[in-house]
Amino acid sequence: MTKSTEPAKPKMASVWLEACAGCHMSFLDMDERLLELFKKVEITSTPISDIKEIPEVTVGVIEGGLGNEEELHIAKNLREKCKILIAWGDCAVFGGINCLRNFIKVEDLLREAYTDTVTTVNPTGVIPHGGPLPHDGVPALLPQAMPVDRAVKVDIYVPGCPPDADTIAFVFNEILDGRIPKVPQEMMRYD
Ligand code: SF4
Repeated sequence: MTKSTEPAKPKMASVWLEACAGCHMSFLDMDERLLELFKKVEITSTPISDIKEIPEVTVGVIEGGLGNEEELHIAKNLREKCKILIAWGDCAVFGGINCLRNFIKVEDLLREAYTDTVTTVNPTGVIPHGGPLPHDGVPALLPQAMPVDRAVKVDIYVPGCPPDADTIAFVFNEILDGRIPKVPQEMMRYD
């Protein structure tokens, strides 16, 4: 049996934290350019591949901000596993729409979500982390929602809501050519 002489491809992993998935949808919008990317990059753990364990990778991508303890843990884990970390989209770069909740105390948010909403049916008044009540599997909210770089070092910022497919393709091509990309002004789209 002959051994492959092809060099190992750089690996990429991405996570989807406090987010709407729009940034990953933009990634899929690269369409046929994805086929070219897959020839050069091994996609490992992503929400698309649904592989939960993050291996050691060259590039880590974070979509979404940080809003709860689980998201904080995932961001730190990816930071440890990757050489280059990309904050991808406004939620990851700036905190995004998630930060609207920062004007309201966590206790009031939880009460509104779990008991006070007109359509809520919650006769026992269960509020996760709100007292001696069950909260298994529901991660505790952080006091505030925040961008990724409040907790981990970010190497590349790709703003946009979402960044479009051309921008994402540009970023990957720059990295594959050995450069740390700087997204040009004309690619900073907010529509
Ligand atoms: S940046 Fe926009 S598209 Fe991306 S996760 Fe946030 S809200 Fe969704």
